[in-house]
Amino acid sequence: MKRMEKLRGVLNNIFIPKLLRKLHPAWLVLLVILKIISVIVFTFLIACNNNQNTDKPTTVAPKDIVITPPSFDADSAYSFVKTQVDFGPRAPGSKAHEKCAEYLTNKLKSYNLQVVVQHGMVTTYDTKQFNISNIIGSYKPELKNRILLLTHWDSRPIADMDSVDKDKPIDGADDGGSGVAVLLEVARQLNIAKPSYGVDIFFSDLEDDGENNNNESWCLGTQYWIKHPHVQNYNPAFGILLDMVGGKNPIFPMEGTGMHYAPSFIQKVWDVAGKLGFSEYFIDTQTGTTIDDHFFINRDGHIPCIDIVHYEPEKRDYPYYHHKHSDNMSVIDKNTLKMVGQVVLAVILNEGGA
Ligand SMILES: [Zn+2]
Repeated sequence: MKRMEKLRGVLNNIFIPKLLRKLHPAWLVLLVILKIISVIVFTFLIACNNNQNTDKPTTVAPKDIVITPPSFDADSAYSFVKTQVDFGPRAPGSKAHEKCAEYLTNKLKSYNLQVVVQHGMVTTYDTKQFNISNIIGSYKPELKNRILLLTHWDSRPIADMDSVDKDKPIDGADDGGSGVAVLLEVARQLNIAKPSYGVDIFFSDLEDDGENNNNESWCLGTQYWIKHPHVQNYNPAFGILLDMVGGKNPIFPMEGTGMHYAPSFIQKVWDVAGKLGFSEYFIDTQTGTTIDDHFFINRDGHIPCIDIVHYEPEKRDYPYYHHKHSDNMSVIDKNTLKMVGQVVLAVILNEGGA
C-alpha cells in the first residue's frame, strides 16, 4: 500500500491529470502501462511511415488515382525497346532496319492482330530513294468504330544535334524505340482485355530522315500512307501518336499542332492521364506546333490526331539526348513506358465502354 501511495505521488508529479488522481493506484498503474504501450506503437508507426518517405522516389509515380489503372507490363515494354536497339540503329536501308521490320510484323501477328505491311518508294530531301515498310496491325478489323495508335519505328540516320560522329546513325532508344515498345505491349494487352472498340496500331517508317526547316521532308512513311491508306475509306474516330515516350522525368505538354486540329481529344487523353494520377507529367501547358506524323494526318488525312511527345517548355526543346548518340538504353525508364501505356489503354477501354 505504501508503495502504491508513493507511486501515486510520483505519478501525480509527472503526468496524471487532476481528475484521475482520485483513482485507486492499481488503475493508475494500468493507465500508465496503456499510455506507455500507445506511445511505443505510435512511435513505431511514425518510424514505418518515415521509412516509406525516405525511400528513393521512382521517376514516375501516380498521385490521386481516380480510375483503375489498366494492366501494362513495364518489363515487357522495356524488353521491346532493348530488342529493337540490339538490332542496331534502324536507319533506312540498313540490315538492322530490315530485321526490325520482320520482328515487328511477327510480333503483331503473335498478338492475333491482322497485319498489313505496306511497301512503297519514297525520296528523301537528299535525293536518296528508299522502299519503306509501314506496318499496320488491326485489332477487330471488322469493326467500324476505330482508334488509330501510331509511332515511327525507324531511327535517325544521322546525329546532327551531337558534337561527335554527326554523320553516324543513332540508337533511337527513345526516339523510335519507346513508342514502338509501348504499342507492342498495348497490342499484347488488347489481346487479353479484348475491348469493344477496333484499334489500328501503325508503325510508320521514315519519319526521322528529314531536314531541319524543311517541313515536308519529314514523316515520309506517314505521308505515303495518307495517299495510300491500308484499307479503303479508312476513318478512325481519332488518332494518338507517341514519340519519345520512354525517357526519365518526362514532360508531356499539350502539343500545339494537336491543339490546333484536335483540342478536344487532347483534353480527353489528358483527363484520363489526370484520373490515373499522372497530371504531374501530362501538364496543361500548351507548346508551339511541331512537325510530326500527326501533322500530316491532320492536315492531309483529315483525321483528328494528337501527339504525346516529350518536350520541355521551359527549355523550349526536346530532351537533352534528342538526335544525339546519347539517345540509348541508358535514358529509358520503364515507369515512363508504363505510364504512357496505361493512359493509352485507359482511353481505349473507356471509349469502348469496357
Ligand atoms: Zn526524331
